[in-house]
Amino acid sequence: QTTSKLPPTPSPLRNSKFLQSNMRILVTGGAGFIGSHLVDRLMENEKNEVIVVDNYFTGSKDNLRRWIGHPRFELIRHDVTEPILVEVDQIYHLACPASPIFYKHNPVKTIKTNVIGTLNMLGLAKRVGARILLTSTSEVYGDPLVHPQPESYWGNVNPIGVRSCYDEGKRVAETLMFDYHRQHGIEIRVARIFNTYGPRMNIDDGRVVSNFIAQALRGEPLTVQLPGTQTRSFCYVSDLVDGLIRLMEGENTGPINLGNPGEFTVLELAKTVKELINTEVEIKMVENTPDDPRQRKPDITKAKEVLGWEPKVKLRDGLPLMEDDFRSRLGVGKQK
Ligand code: NAD
Ligand code: UDP
Ligand code: UDP
Repeated sequence: QTTSKLPPTPSPLRNSKFLQSNMRILVTGGAGFIGSHLVDRLMENEKNEVIVVDNYFTGSKDNLRRWIGHPRFELIRHDVTEPILVEVDQIYHLACPASPIFYKHNPVKTIKTNVIGTLNMLGLAKRVGARILLTSTSEVYGDPLVHPQPESYWGNVNPIGVRSCYDEGKRVAETLMFDYHRQHGIEIRVARIFNTYGPRMNIDDGRVVSNFIAQALRGEPLTVQLPGTQTRSFCYVSDLVDGLIRLMEGENTGPINLGNPGEFTVLELAKTVKELINTEVEIKMVENTPDDPRQRKPDITKAKEVLGWEPKVKLRDGLPLMEDDFRSRLGVGKQK
């Protein structure tokens, strides 16, 4: 189901030994949460050579330690806001901080990463004739006035708010993708990813699932930001990676929503984490930040039709898989 087609014009600089069957794949942001799981999946295919480019802003080499030194794997410390020359067949362009506390930390850098970083990767794709996939986000829908969100919805985004460096940055990145496609014939794929969770999330990155699990394991109150009735739909990372690969290998440019349509209020999530991980912890209501979307749920009709994809892992099954990873990283044993 994942038979790959080589893009039409491999660069003359490409090592001819690999020309026939091997696929050289660049993953930007490959040291991050989703990127490292994607690399694991790509490396399982012996025909793939994987090059990761990452500046380690939010990612870490530790996420890739099993591949360091592998003959089909290369890791380059590089910032995508600077040009880069590599010869590849496919580009999965993920590089961008994804959690609000990190992307708000240096908003100008976030915008540059989205705009200049994506421009550089498109310039690279154009030069070598590679197919390029952008990991866009459900945040392009902003605080949506349509529910659930189909790809045809144009969104309700504040252009000057504290989240805009990320939301509007990704919107420009999508625009660049489609302009390079129309103007230069670049093969593009655009995924709009909804909230994703799983092992290797940064423990203290402020995202709701990682926060609640870390808090439950440390015996601290679960901080539900007001009003608590805001909803999200949480996709387990293995499902998401499966969707990304199907999108890359398929024929549709997207944008395509990838996410789990199971919708929960943040308070329901807190109660579920409490029940599954530590029934002793309190749930505490705390202040929220501006522009927090009130509801979010993907319409995945298109992904089902075009990619034959839908998520398999339910929230109640995914949370315990993440718990094990967090326990070992936090050094918290099973006994409560
Ligand atoms: P992450 O922060 O774990 O990974 C991002 C990676 O990009 C990190 O390894 C970081 O060091 C690297 N990076 C950041 N800026 C860079 C730069 N200028 N140059 C090179 N590398 C850089 O986040 P993630 O959750 O794995 O997200 C990956 C992608 O998926 C991002 O593009 C994000 O916008 C998108 N996405 C994620 C989610 C989610 O729920 N996790 C939802 C929607 C979209
Ligand atoms: N670029 C890159 N690697 C390449 C080719 C291009 O990083 O292999 C960068 C290049 O530096 C430029 C951007 O991609 O800033 C856009 O390239 P393009 O050729 O589309 O535009 P131009 O260089 O003509 O502005
Ligand atoms: N949230 C929360 N407690 C936390 C962290 C987040 O209640 O400790 C809420 C936040 O207000 C938002 C939702 O959880 O409504 C999802 O936040 P996250 O930062 O994980 O993702 P995003 O807002 O980007 O969807």
